Formats: sequence, structure tokens, C-alpha cells
Amino acid sequence: MVYWDHAASTPPYDEVVQTMAEVMKKHYGNPSSIHRMGEDAARLIQRAREVCAASLQVQPSEIIWTSGATEGNNMAIKGAAMQYAGRGKHIVTTEIEHPSVYDTCLALQRQGYEVTFLPVDGKGKVDPAHVASAVRKDTILVSIMHVNNETGAVQPLEEIGRAVKEANPLTLFHIDGVQGFGKLPVRLKAWKADLYTLSAHKIRGPKGTGILYKREGITLHPLLTGGKQEAGMRAGTENIPGIVAMSKAMRMAAEQTEAFMAQVGALRDELLAWIGTNPVLEPNSFREGAPHIVNLSFPGMKAEVLLHSLEEHGALVSTKSACSSKTAEPSRVLLAMGRSGDAASSAIRISMGMTNTHEELQQLISALNAAVNRLQPLRQEGMK
Ligand code: PLP
Repeated sequence: MVYWDHAASTPPYDEVVQTMAEVMKKHYGNPSSIHRMGEDAARLIQRAREVCAASLQVQPSEIIWTSGATEGNNMAIKGAAMQYAGRGKHIVTTEIEHPSVYDTCLALQRQGYEVTFLPVDGKGKVDPAHVASAVRKDTILVSIMHVNNETGAVQPLEEIGRAVKEANPLTLFHIDGVQGFGKLPVRLKAWKADLYTLSAHKIRGPKGTGILYKREGITLHPLLTGGKQEAGMRAGTENIPGIVAMSKAMRMAAEQTEAFMAQVGALRDELLAWIGTNPVLEPNSFREGAPHIVNLSFPGMKAEVLLHSLEEHGALVSTKSACSSKTAEPSRVLLAMGRSGDAASSAIRISMGMTNTHEELQQLISALNAAVNRLQPLRQEGMK
């Protein structure tokens, strides 16, 4: 079996697995304890914080540990909404955000906040001019992702950040960076990011760990109350093995970004070129997108049928994102790009990593070719 689902989760680095085991075994003290084992655990967390901060070129005090990006996105959006409700109750986001942002905004809408969902163009991009005209005096937060998890579309964050701050310097700019870190350059200062979310398991780190970058000077209303960990921002004993392992994964992913872009980008280009030669397949990803995600539609065929057919040929891909692949609805992201209900219901996502080889890609293309030829007579016209 070859794994082509790296946007859902990634194989951890060997160093990450070793670190997790070692820290669990040797450093099990509670970092809040004031004896030497507690201090030792606290030191490990501090060192990990410094490594993660260095990877983002920010201050260690600006890093908050979380359980992953779902928590980070909730913490950023709900935390800002609650903290700054006095300034206004308007939030701007897009139609293509991950559910951990999109559904969080819907939840706030039900609580009386006003949310503007910006549209995207046919390639899944947000127009910075739309951001500029959406931001108002009472806009407390703009939340826009770096790389879309279904299509790999990359947002023009520098232009968007500028548009946000020119329209209202007090509006906070939050970026869901989960699918971009380690895949593309990350420039939080140039993007004017106030809040930035990451998840370890998307960058070959462990599941259940993430970070939220919170720029110095910003206050968020904490989601969890209890102990005073993370400067009162997140109560609860820290996940030390996860934190230390995440710092390892972050350092490695940051160091390998250029190699990732070259190596994985070459696989993406080859796959996109082959899709272009196949008259029945429609690409939903483009060469200017992130290096690791290729989304394609096979109109007239339910995505699950193509997925399982590829699985029979030894290739593991996904439909939509892992979080929404168990829902039967067509992809909200593809519909927002103006794709038909048919195209949005027949889309699969192939997402690649550095562990994938050129030979494996050749096998995947053969598998796709065989599956598409076999399923071709079964296609239904105008499937909705
Ligand atoms: N944001 C994006 C863009 C994602 O792709 C994901 C994971 O699928 C998340 C957020 C949620 O991350 P986690 O699994 O760490 O909660």
C-alpha cells in the first residue's frame, strides 16, 4: 500500500517517535512541581518553545501549546471574539476554511456575532480587495488560511494582511497555517499575522499537539480555565512528550521546506500534467498551489467508488478532507470555487510527502488510469 493522504496526517519522523518514548519514560515529572523533576520537565518545555519560536522567527513567549489546530483555531477565534466583543461583533473569514474555523464562525454567528464569508475565484483564491471592503470599524478578526486542505490553493497573505491593517489597524489577522508550514515559506511578520495556528501531526510530528502563535500585546479570553499553565491561556498539565516531539518535527520541517517544495512539487507537476492528458478527469488544483495536494474530479462517479478502486490497486487517497470525508455532501470548498455539484461530489484528494517516490507516482498514475477506464462505462450523466 502506498500512502497518498499526507494532508490528513503524516508518518512521524523516527526521531519524533524516539523522542516521545524517551520523554515519556524519563521526564514524567509535572512541570508545575517545584522539585527537580518538575523543573527538569519545565526546562524541556521552555527549550521546545524556543525551538518552535525560532522556526517561526517569533518570541518564545508568543507560543501557546495546544492539543492541535482544532483547539488553536477555536482558541484564536472564540478567544478574540469574547475578549474584544466590546470593540465590535463582526468577523471576516472565507467560504473555504477548514471546519475548525468555518464551524467555529457559524457557532459564533448563532451567539449573535456577524460573520462575513468571503468568496473565492475558480482557483480557490481570495481577492485581497474583497478583504479590504469587508473589514469595518467593528471587525474584530479576519481568519484566512494559508493553504487550503482540499485543493492546495495558496492565499496571497501579504496582500491580505496589508488590506486588513489598512482597513482597520485594530482588526486581528488570524491565519490557519496547518497545510503551509514545511511546504512553503512562512513569513508571519510580512503577513502582519497576529495569530497563527499549527498542528504537529501534519508535519510528521505526533497527534494531539499543536501551537497557537499569539503576537505580544494581544489578549485572548481563555477557553479552558483551571491551572495557570501557558500564562493562564490554557489550563491543564502540558503534554510534554508531544511538545518536545513537536519542536523536533517543526525544526526538521522548517529545514526541509526547500527540499519539500522541489521534490514533492515535481511529483505534483507530473501528476497534474498527466491529469491534463486525460479527457474525463478535471483538476481542482493548479501548479501555483501548494506542492503536496492534487485534487481532481471524475464527473459522473461518486468519489468513494474511485477511492476504493484505487485502494484495490494499492493507493490510499481521500475524498475531501479527513474531517469531512464521512459526510455525504459535496465538497463545500469546490462548490465555492464554482464547480458543479457533480464535480464536487466526485472529487478525490491525493496528498504527497517526502516519503513518496517517483516510482510510486508512476504506479499511482497506472492505478488511476486502470480505475478510470474500468469505471468509465458506469458513469452517470448529470449526477448531483
Ligand atoms: N486546519 C487545517 C487546514 C487542517 O487541514 C486541519 C486538519 O485536517 C486542521 C485545521 C485541524 O487540525 P487538527 O487535526 O490538529 O485538529
